[in-house]
Amino acid sequence: MIFCNECFRDRQVRAIIESSSKAKGNCPVCGKKNVFLYDTDKNISLKDFLNDLISIYTPQELLPSGYDTADVHMIADELKNEWNIFSESLDSHSIYDIIINLSSSLYIDTPKLFDAPVGVPEKYDNDYKIKHSILSDHTWEDFVASIKHDNRFHTDYINLDKLKTYLSYLRKDYRKNVILFRGRLRHGNTKYTRKEMGAPPVQFAREGRANSSGVSRLYLADSEQTCIHEIRSGAFDVINIGRFKLQKDISVIDFKLISQFSPFNEDFDFLEYLINKPVLQKIDQEMGRALRSSDNPLDYVPTQYLCDFIKTLEYEKGKPFEGVEYTSTLNQGGYNLAVFYPDLFKCTSVKTFKIDNLRYDYNVVK
Ligand SMILES: [Zn+2]
Repeated sequence: MIFCNECFRDRQVRAIIESSSKAKGNCPVCGKKNVFLYDTDKNISLKDFLNDLISIYTPQELLPSGYDTADVHMIADELKNEWNIFSESLDSHSIYDIIINLSSSLYIDTPKLFDAPVGVPEKYDNDYKIKHSILSDHTWEDFVASIKHDNRFHTDYINLDKLKTYLSYLRKDYRKNVILFRGRLRHGNTKYTRKEMGAPPVQFAREGRANSSGVSRLYLADSEQTCIHEIRSGAFDVINIGRFKLQKDISVIDFKLISQFSPFNEDFDFLEYLINKPVLQKIDQEMGRALRSSDNPLDYVPTQYLCDFIKTLEYEKGKPFEGVEYTSTLNQGGYNLAVFYPDLFKCTSVKTFKIDNLRYDYNVVK
């Protein structure tokens, strides 16, 4: 069978095809032209490459009773959607053909892994979760209830060693002079000064998703557009947006990377990652959830706890993580960075914007 580097999204698989390809040409699977071709009859670099990953799955008939039937999928769909290995444009049939060619011996031994829906029994195994899950055998909701109403500062609902391991995969480096933005809704006629655009002094610091009351952190956005969405301004509001320049190289934890990084790293535990991925995605989602005036400040406690923990971590001796980055839920494609040390960024200019009109997208809720 012949396919190409463009049939894949995973960067490790693409790199292997690019370096081992014996010819360039047009791909019979995805249709791309002049790409690196991989011929399973002539090339063995990817032979059995997916076997370890596919082997964490169990055919449906062998899953424990009570396993959620909505949580079983064909392996081709699982590799595309859960692991982001294949290109968006490939259909399940093409993916099936590729994987049975790459994992031909596993296919002969256990065809049901490929031809019937599969699941992961450890999702229901409390002993496994106690050892391997960031939340031990608790749910996110258990953790939230416990930290809000039982023990605020010393929760045993989080397996901190596991959390630390997975956070280490989410490091993002920023180079000095990067520009980010912060917006403030203007209440009077006077434009905010550069100093006023910065993080509030501790005595005025109100709680947010990444900081408790009395802790000052600088919330920045990737673009002026994200700022305007995050402020949730109304029509005719006037907004000041400050341009902030990074003063030195820093490293942060980037929750957006959860769905992007390749699982094909050395010593990577596919099964454990699959168990923990929803927890990490939940944290990204919670961090990005818009603040509302009707919010109970207790709702922010879970992410405040996690951010304070991240602030204690170092990526190298003496070099702490200096912020947390997460997806903007109000501006699709945008993101925010909460900086632990506000002085790392300096406001270099302030612009004024007026909101001309708002557009509402909506649908009927049954
Ligand atoms: Zn292709």
